[in-house]
Amino acid sequence: MELLIFWDARAPAGIQSAFSREIERLLPLKTNICESPFVVTGYIPSRRQTNATSLLDSLDLYRKRSGVSGLVLLVVSEDLCRPGDEYLFGLSRRSTGNAVVSTARLGNEFYGYPPDDGDLIDRLSKESAHEAGHLLGLAHCADPECIMHNPLLLEDITRQKRAFCAACRAQIP
Ligand SMILES: [Zn+2]
Ligand SMILES: [Zn+2]
Repeated sequence: MELLIFWDARAPAGIQSAFSREIERLLPLKTNICESPFVVTGYIPSRRQTNATSLLDSLDLYRKRSGVSGLVLLVVSEDLCRPGDEYLFGLSRRSTGNAVVSTARLGNEFYGYPPDDGDLIDRLSKESAHEAGHLLGLAHCADPECIMHNPLLLEDITRQKRAFCAACRAQIP
C-alpha cells in the first residue's frame, strides 16, 4: 500500500529522505513524499495553535476534490490542538485515510535544548508510524515501549523503541 506524505513548506527541511526510509522500515508501506499542495487551515489566533480536527476536515475535502487516493500523512510545523486537548503530536482519521503530524513539539528547541536532526527524525518517525498504524487499523497498546503506546508527553515518545511490539506487529496488514 502507498503512503503519500505531504510535507508542508514550513516543516523542517533536509530530513525528508531519512524520515521516509524509516517509515518504510517500520511499516509495509511504499512512501511517496512531496511538497504539500494543501494549505494548512484551522489556525486559532487566540491559542496560536491549529485545530487538528478542522485541519483533517479540510484535508478530506481537498482529497475529494483532487482525487488523491490511498493513505495520506501530512507533516506540518504548526502546533496542533483540538477541543479537549491542550496539544496533540498528531491525529489520524481512519475512515478517510488521512493523518496529520506536527513537528512543533518534537524538536529539542521547543524545550530549550539545541536542535538535533537525529532526535527529530527519531521522534517524527515514531509519531508518524503511530498515526499510520491507526490508519492501518491498529489501536493503542499498553506496552510503553511500543510505537502504538499513546504518547502524552515527549518523554513517552522518547521511551518508545523504534518498533512495534510483537502483538501490534501481528496486526499490521
Ligand atoms: Zn494514537
Ligand atoms: Zn504494541
